Amino acid sequence: MPTTRHFACKSCDLDFDTPAGLGQHVAITHGECAVCGEILEDPESVDDHTQQVH
Ligand SMILES: [Zn+2]
Ligand SMILES: [Zn+2]
Repeated sequence: MPTTRHFACKSCDLDFDTPAGLGQHVAITHGECAVCGEILEDPESVDDHTQQVH
């Protein structure tokens, strides 16, 4: 029974002990839409997502 899985990344299988750790991982490895908060696969996808979805 996993007890240390607190903040899991929605875009990959990693998980973190703190929301700050997760946020840093998302910012560096992926990208987060400032409009709807969706986590993209990589930072370059944020511009495409923003233009196409919003
Ligand atoms: Zn991730
Ligand atoms: Zn969005």
